[in-house]
Amino acid sequence: MSQADQQHLSLPNGERIPYQLERRPRRTVGLKINQAGLIVHAPKRISQSQLEAMLMSKIDWIQNKLKAQQENALPAFEWKDGASLLLLGNEVTLSVEPDTVNRVVDYTPGLLRVALPQPENASQIAKKVIQWYRKQALTDFSRRLEILAAKLGVPTPALFLSNARSRWGSCNSRQEIRLNWRLLQAPPHIINYVVAHELAHLKEMNHSAKFWAMVEKIYPDYKTAEKELKVWSAKLHQI
Ligand SMILES: [Zn+2]
Repeated sequence: MSQADQQHLSLPNGERIPYQLERRPRRTVGLKINQAGLIVHAPKRISQSQLEAMLMSKIDWIQNKLKAQQENALPAFEWKDGASLLLLGNEVTLSVEPDTVNRVVDYTPGLLRVALPQPENASQIAKKVIQWYRKQALTDFSRRLEILAAKLGVPTPALFLSNARSRWGSCNSRQEIRLNWRLLQAPPHIINYVVAHELAHLKEMNHSAKFWAMVEKIYPDYKTAEKELKVWSAKLHQI
């Protein structure tokens, strides 16, 4: 069990930095910065003044990290009528309409329509839209996997979708490939690159020169795609 409470660190210039203090059975002070701001994990026995002296000694690091976090943070996605989604690199407007029954998602280029009895219920909208994305992702990724596997000269491996927050794809020793459904938001050539990357892992389970040569064989411009994927990454995680 740990207790969390909201504290402020007062700087000599009068600025106050809020932080969440969590007392834990541990020996050292741990600092973490995420969307919520600064989180401090402190041993149960350390006094407040000792803790604040320690935070002050790391103030440059803390402020730099907080600044970087703010700059990278995208506004939280709002699941509501008129929201802008991404599909294969294109913008798609989400239309949410009230209906007496829950209807299937309807897609026409540029417009994704959902109709449900509670059009204000963000989590219901999210659930429906994400279900739709997953279904499309499976169809879309399967097709790309088949084409690129043939190009590499390997049988088409089994495909599963993942929901990982940190990775786009993975491949295991059972020759199964997992791709993040969120990739469906990215432009097609980036999806192709991730598929090519995972397929190459079927032959080389590492990132050696031999591996990259394999990727290049089926996706020549992999270096550009790898860089582009990094740029898209935050956007692809908005939902
Ligand atoms: Zn890899």
